[in-house]
Formats: sequence, structure tokens, C-alpha cells
Amino acid sequence: MKGLIWFRSDLRIDDNPALLNASKTCDELISIYFFSKFQWALHNESAVKLEFVHENLILLEQSLQKLNIPLLVIETQNYESLSSDLVSFAKLNSVDHIFWNNEFGVNEGKRDLAVTNLLNDSGINVTCFDDQVIYEPGYLRTGQGKPFSVFTPFKRRWIENFSLDFLNLEKATKPLKIPQLNSDLSPLNFPKKNAVDMTLWPAGEVSALERLSSFLANKVNSYNQSRNDPILDGTSRISPYLALGIISPKRCILEGLKLNNFELSSGNKGVCKWIDEIIWREFYRNIMHSFPKVSKNLPFQDYTKHIHWRYSEDELERFYSGNTGFPIIDAGIRQMLQEGWMHNRLRMVVAMFFTKNMLHDWRLGEKFFMQNLIDGDFSSNNGGWQWSSSTGTDAAPYFRIFNPITQSQNFDPKGEFIKKFIPELKDVPIAKIHQPKDDLFSSIDYPAPILNLKESRMRAIQAFKDAREVSGI
Ligand SMILES: Cc1cc2nc3c(=O)[nH]c(=O)nc-3n(C[C@H](O)[C@H](O)[C@H](O)COP(=O)(O)OP(=O)(O)OC[C@H]3O[C@@H](n4cnc5c(N)ncnc54)[C@H](O)[C@@H]3O)c2cc1C
Repeated sequence: MKGLIWFRSDLRIDDNPALLNASKTCDELISIYFFSKFQWALHNESAVKLEFVHENLILLEQSLQKLNIPLLVIETQNYESLSSDLVSFAKLNSVDHIFWNNEFGVNEGKRDLAVTNLLNDSGINVTCFDDQVIYEPGYLRTGQGKPFSVFTPFKRRWIENFSLDFLNLEKATKPLKIPQLNSDLSPLNFPKKNAVDMTLWPAGEVSALERLSSFLANKVNSYNQSRNDPILDGTSRISPYLALGIISPKRCILEGLKLNNFELSSGNKGVCKWIDEIIWREFYRNIMHSFPKVSKNLPFQDYTKHIHWRYSEDELERFYSGNTGFPIIDAGIRQMLQEGWMHNRLRMVVAMFFTKNMLHDWRLGEKFFMQNLIDGDFSSNNGGWQWSSSTGTDAAPYFRIFNPITQSQNFDPKGEFIKKFIPELKDVPIAKIHQPKDDLFSSIDYPAPILNLKESRMRAIQAFKDAREVSGI
């Protein structure tokens, strides 16, 4: 039997259920990856993420060669054209069976349904797997049979239902028969224009596994204490690899559990907390699946549709370039512009500043992050922005507004992170580093603050109160 694996957000050999099952079922296999510039632009995919996709495809192709599985990378117009392109390709190459790992976005779901119907009409079998989650999205339900919309009970149920049998991870290793290929292997032709230093993000499964091992060996024990201080770099930085599926969440959980006698909720606090974060990722995938409105530019909390967001080109420009005059905010944004990645604590502080103090629409911030992050992931990004703006599930109550100065003092006490990303402030003493620029530093080339913290806080609270009143809450 001749099979086809359609790679999507699963650019790896290890713990890849579609690849594993295909190689057990078929005598010969071809693999394919589609890209569409239109679809990328529609989803605001960043240039740095696309360069990372490109580098990873090159390495995946090499690994697949060892299994005698050619990888074809094909450009298509959009998701509609993709369906017919895939079916034509399958027919041309006499494919009997197609395998893929599921993606959970609304557009991706529609695409996959259209493809499945066309393939079935052509007599080609389809088998799909879930590799991004432990439980199929929507499977875990509340006692009332509803989807979860709060993280803590979701996590409790996740742990109650968990079995180590879920982590019997395997990988395809045996080379198959070399397949007959009736399509040309064309060179990868990806657009490349990205300013991030890619040595920060070495491509490939080997690099992802090394990163995981190094984090587990050196940092996970203190993760509980160090995960909030950006300068300590105490987190795994595995998110870009998870976003493209270069490593699987199951592999991350398994390797973490090995350090904690396979305990999920007791023992090593660092391991437990770190696995919690991976469960957060799964939680947001469930939200995207069970509440499709969040994929349609709508807030999870309906009343927040009535918030009157401000819009100032000038303020946006200053925010997007990391020139708000609030050092910790600007350092976070500049980290993202330079590294393609921002520390989680800063993502929260920055997103809250944008949506509360600046009172700008969370959807603009969400888009800005997607356009700049190497780990851009719709469900986690949407979840994070909606949490920070108090429009989402588990949202911070609307009157909870981080004070960026206090956050800076707490999580970058010596101002080291600020100085790393805002060299203009390198000579400012610690006592002053967290504050917006004052007259003492008039000679420093750093902007005055964009807003008054106290007034902007009151303005945000009033905007939420007004929206609640309109909705009769
Ligand atoms: C406004 C905002 C936007 C965000 N956008 C994204 C995004 O586009 N892509 C993305 O992967 N994460 C996003 N996050 C979540 C989180 O900030 C990143 O996953 C984390 O910073 C990645 O760093 P790490 O790999 O070192 O994380 P670690 O602390 O080592 O955590 C391990 C893994 O757990 C997952 N994880 C950690 N925290 C969260 C979280 N709060 N929500 C969901 N999953 C989490 C990630 O996959 C992460 O790689 C966002 C958070 C906020 C507040």
C-alpha cells in the first residue's frame, strides 16, 4: 500500500502518530507540506516563524530521507486550492491512504473537512491523529457535561483522567521501500526577511531535545522561583519548537515526569509547575475548540464587546517600537523585536498595559504579537491577550491592573533586564531605573512616558464599568 503523510504543525519524526501509523501500515510513503502566503498573511504569521519553518523543513527532509520518505514542499493559493491540489497530487502518485495529525483552528477544521470529502469521493482513505494534546479537545467535560472555561477544574480533571499509558512514545525507524514519485522535488522557496538572530533558535528535533534536556537538567528544579524574573531566563524557551511541532507535548511531559517519579501533582514543585504550563496550552486549545467565537475576533466575555477602546496612531507607534517611556514595557517589546520571543511575565505586563492603561483593543495587540513572535500560536496568544484584557476565560478581574513600575521592581529588581534591552538607560541608578524618565535624566535619549498611570487606570476601570452597565450586569 502507498501512503501519503501530510505534515502541518508536526515537523518531527519522534512521537509523530501520523508518521508512525503510516509507516506501520504502508509499504511505501511520500510526505508533503503545503504553504500559502495568503493564508500566512491572513493568520498574521511572523517572518521569524516562517524562517524557522523553512529551516526545520530542510532538516525534516534529511531525516525523512533516511526512512526513504521523500518530502515535497508545495506552494498553494489558499486553503480552498489546497484541497484540490492535495487530491490531484494523491491521484497522480497513486496514493491509497493519507495520514495527518489534527490542527484545531476553525479554518483548519473547515479545510480538513473539505479535503476529507474530496478524498473519500476519490476512494482515498484518510486517518487522523491528535498529537498536540493528551485528550482530544472537548473530551474533558465539567460535571454538568459542559466544556471547561476555567483552568483549575480543567487541570484537576486532566490529572484525574491521566494514565502513563498515554506516554508510550514511539518513533518510526525502519526504512520503507523507495516510492515511485510522479511529481518533481522542487527546492524550498520561502520568503526570508527577518531581523532576528536565528542562532538563538537552532532548528531541528535534535536541538529541541537538547534544549529540553538542558532545561530539565539545569533549570526545572528552580523553575517555581525563577520563572517570573526575565533576566534569570529560568524557563525552557521550548515554545517555538512546540508551536511548529518540532517536539511533542507528550515528549516534554514524559521527560519531566521521569525526574519526578512519574508524579504529576506532588514531589518536585518545579516539574509540577512546568507541566501545569503545558496543561495551560492544552486548556487554550480546548477553549478554541469549544468556543469558536474566540477564533472569530470575538471576546469570550460577551459584555466586553461594549467597551469603547481608544485608538491613537501616535500611541500605537510608540508601543510597537518599544518607546512608551515605561522601561519594563519597552524592554519587553524590544526583547520580542530582537529575539522573536518575549518572557511570559512581560507578555502579561505588556498586554495589560496595552489594553488597560492605553485602553487599546486587545485584537490589535494580539495581531502585533503574532506578527513578531517565533512561537506565535493562535490559541495561546488569544488566550493570553484575552486573559490580560479581562475579556477572556479565567480572566483577570477588570479592576486588576498591573502597575508596570511595581512589576518592574518585583521581577527585575536590579533593572538588569531593562538595561540589557534599553542600553540608553545603562547608567541610570537602580532607584530610578523602573520609573519613567524624569528631569534628572533630561540628557538621556529615552522618551517621556506616554501616559499617566493613575489617570489611565481610572479611565480603564470606568470603561469596563460602562460596558457592564450597557449589558445590564
Ligand atoms: C499576551 C500573551 C501572549 C502569548 N502568546 C503566546 C504564543 O503566541 N505562543 C505561545 O506558545 N505562548 C504564548 N503565551 C504563553 C507563554 O507566554 C509562552 O508560552 C511562554 O512564555 C513560552 O516560553 P517557554 O517556552 O520558556 O515557557 P515555559 O515556562 O518553559 O513553559 C513550557 C511550555 O508551556 C506552555 N505555556 C507556558 N505558559 C503558557 C501560557 N500562559 N499559556 C499557554 N501555554 C503556556 C508553552 O508551550 C511553553 O513552551 C502568551 C502569553 C501571554 C500572556
